[in-house]
Amino acid sequence: MKIHEYQAKELLRKFGIITPKGIPCFSVDEAVKAAEELGGKIWVVKAQIHAGGRGKGGGVKLAKSPAEVREHADAILGMQLVTHQTGPEGQKVRRLLVEEGADIQHEYYVAALTDRASQKVVIMGSSEGGMDIEEVAEKTPEKIIKVFVDPLEGLTDAKAGELADGIGMPAEARANAIDALKKLYTCYMDTDASLAEINPLIREGDGTVKALDAKFDFDSNALFRHEDIVAYRDMDEEDAQEIEASKYDLAYISLDGDIGCMVNGAGLAMATMDTIKLFGGEPANFLDVGGGATIEKVTAAFTIMLKNPKVKGILVNIFGGIMRCDTIANGVVTAAREVDLKVPLVVRMKGTNEDLGKKILAESGLPIISADTMAEAATAIVNAVKGK
Ligand code: ADP
Ligand code: MG
Repeated sequence: MKIHEYQAKELLRKFGIITPKGIPCFSVDEAVKAAEELGGKIWVVKAQIHAGGRGKGGGVKLAKSPAEVREHADAILGMQLVTHQTGPEGQKVRRLLVEEGADIQHEYYVAALTDRASQKVVIMGSSEGGMDIEEVAEKTPEKIIKVFVDPLEGLTDAKAGELADGIGMPAEARANAIDALKKLYTCYMDTDASLAEINPLIREGDGTVKALDAKFDFDSNALFRHEDIVAYRDMDEEDAQEIEASKYDLAYISLDGDIGCMVNGAGLAMATMDTIKLFGGEPANFLDVGGGATIEKVTAAFTIMLKNPKVKGILVNIFGGIMRCDTIANGVVTAAREVDLKVPLVVRMKGTNEDLGKKILAESGLPIISADTMAEAATAIVNAVKGK
């Protein structure tokens, strides 16, 4: 689960990391009022969407008067902000953050994440923080410094110091940087984050180290123990089909292809997607209906898949274990009738009551294509969506 920058900063402040003063706003008038409340001479008006690269996309603007704050807020609020992380359709801006302008001497990059290879938390940093960090990572990866944290020790002063030196933090800001890095590590661990990124982390003229932008991703399996973080959830930023699926306890992920797949079991769902690709097709989603798929769940699954306008065909691949094939067949038939299915449907089922299931499908009078093997099923659906 992702959160907005202003929420991320609120979280960082809870852990003692310094951020600029700022106020989240939902209207232009609120933005102007926020600037007056903050005081000072320079403000930054920032689009709040769950994607990075806002600065380059025109979603972060400096203002030198409340009138300019109004101008920028008016332009940014409601805009369809396109960044390298949103895709070409962009994301609508519904919230703003108005914050005080910082005295930037230098922009650094720091982040905490889990490194699978070493099975440790890694703290990464770079002297080349700011808006071009992707390019730095690609063209000059040696400028990204990493320290690996021993889980029993935590992030020690020595390790944090190593990173601070590695990113070229000058002496007057070194202690502040070490302090911020240790707090970032604690925050990452305590919130069950899978990514905690500060870009830029800046150094000000007096040696103060501040988080000017922050991005978090949280492990959704641990959200049950973080009510405060769940409260940050912004459904407007999430995939509508994924939200709908979660209401029915369906494990669903939207993808870019045109073949909807409904499968029971995550492993079989992955194998089904691979098989579709192997035979020249592209899956439109990952969908695991789970072991206890009821007619209601199957109907919901069909409805959700068909809401995606890209879907040109559906492949159902079910292994009947505890869940019997006849139950699934009844579910598929009911669902297909209920949603008035117009796209080709290929069904493959194996296992308990397979014959009974196939009979139900055949006698339904629906144009369901039955397949026996994975290869047959994939070939049938790929041909069907290609109109062969
Ligand atoms: P994004 O990463 O989505 O482009 P950032 O919040 O990192 O958005 O903002 C982009 C750039 O804008 C930063 O790298 C920094 O140079 C500048 N900036 C952001 N916030 C402030 C601020 N409060 N004061 C001064 N400059 C800022
Ligand atoms: Mg940034």
